[in-house]
Amino acid sequence: MPSSACSHSRMTAVPSPHAKSAGYTRASPTALLAASEPSGRVSRRSAQAGLASGRRRSEPSEEVESEIALPPAPTYPGPLVLPGDDLAEDPKYPTQSLRAWLRLKERNPITDEKRTVYVVSPPAIDSSVDDMEKWAVPTYVKRNQPQLNSWLGSQPLTEDIISYIRAFFTGLPVRRLESSLQFSRWDDNPKSYIGLECPTTSEVIGIRHRADPTRLFPRQLNLNDLLDAALEILPDDAYCILLLMPYDLYEDDADDFCCGRAYGASRIAVISSARYNPALDASQDVNEAHAWPLSHCAEYVRSLCAPLAASKPRPKSSALVIGCERVDSNTPLGAAIQAASEALPDSRETYLLRVCRTATHELGHCFGLDHCVYYACFMQSTSSVAEDVRQPPYACAVCVSKLGRATGSGEVGHVSALADVCEGRSGAGWAALGAWASARRRALDGKGEYIAE
Ligand SMILES: [Zn+2]
Ligand SMILES: [Zn+2]
Repeated sequence: MPSSACSHSRMTAVPSPHAKSAGYTRASPTALLAASEPSGRVSRRSAQAGLASGRRRSEPSEEVESEIALPPAPTYPGPLVLPGDDLAEDPKYPTQSLRAWLRLKERNPITDEKRTVYVVSPPAIDSSVDDMEKWAVPTYVKRNQPQLNSWLGSQPLTEDIISYIRAFFTGLPVRRLESSLQFSRWDDNPKSYIGLECPTTSEVIGIRHRADPTRLFPRQLNLNDLLDAALEILPDDAYCILLLMPYDLYEDDADDFCCGRAYGASRIAVISSARYNPALDASQDVNEAHAWPLSHCAEYVRSLCAPLAASKPRPKSSALVIGCERVDSNTPLGAAIQAASEALPDSRETYLLRVCRTATHELGHCFGLDHCVYYACFMQSTSSVAEDVRQPPYACAVCVSKLGRATGSGEVGHVSALADVCEGRSGAGWAALGAWASARRRALDGKGEYIAE
């Protein structure tokens, strides 16, 4: 859908009409509320907190007799579950409530000795493999030096990514690891391997590489081998470590590419920024004009569901009823949509935010957060870059209850830091996230701090 044809005047905060036919059943309001309770049950306190922060909703409950309420949908909309989305393909993916997260055995405790989040810049390239820098550049980009340099120069800066991670996990120390990793020639089998030197331990790890089956990039690196390197350089005081890679990655022979992976129990994660460059949007069916929060534009959702509804033998008249409402800029979602609609596009900033979002997602796994099926959320699983950009960068009501406990800073601290880090950035995504976080902070207004159990 061309953005010029769309005024984004109505938004939708519930799963799309496709969700039902795909087999996705959303948790009830009671179950959603219970999911962010440490007991796994709705308490009177949470019912009252819900009432205080949101629209009233009647819901019978075994635990409480009073009315209970969630934050209103335009604060935390449901997942869109559009055709082809990961939740549409895997609609029964299990939930992970706060209670399940608290009881998760594989989750590493955050201790005084191990609480620092480390971020590692892309490795340097030894002169023995200097051709490798071309691997980070799409095959269609001309091979001359100015073109290469301008492509490589558009990569997000590590310091900007760290600033975002620091805000998102506010309360924990986030540091750049000065590891001086370096790629070098792997003499035994240079056609399939490249060496990654880890100076702190004098180890050289062999990293497999292969031709990109999608032909977008010349070569891809094996992410499991990179994670071995992460394990090698993991500092003693690390809660976890994140490697930033400008190269396209793959996990095994069965996949085309992979933008990130974490082994939370092992405290390690790696992400690739390669495919998030907005210059590649056309080749990946990415609709930046309807990236989050404009992914909640009712017309856009309708346009993506319409072809499927039309292909059904006897489409029911209800097949395309979109739950939609007027954009109200007093709500976090409405404020985000309005800010995004008014902002000037800035592809460099868009690129940065996409990478930041994936960085926090993979780090979220290191903190024991599983994929989120409750709401639109930074912890949603994703099947494509196109889906990725439709998902929000923020943590939903359930995930923020886990984060608040992990970092000790609670929801108020989290959204305040997010609002602050968006200031001074430009482009629609940052404007939207800043507006969302500021509206959420206003709504919390002193409430929502982490209450010790
Ligand atoms: Zn994930
Ligand atoms: Zn979530």
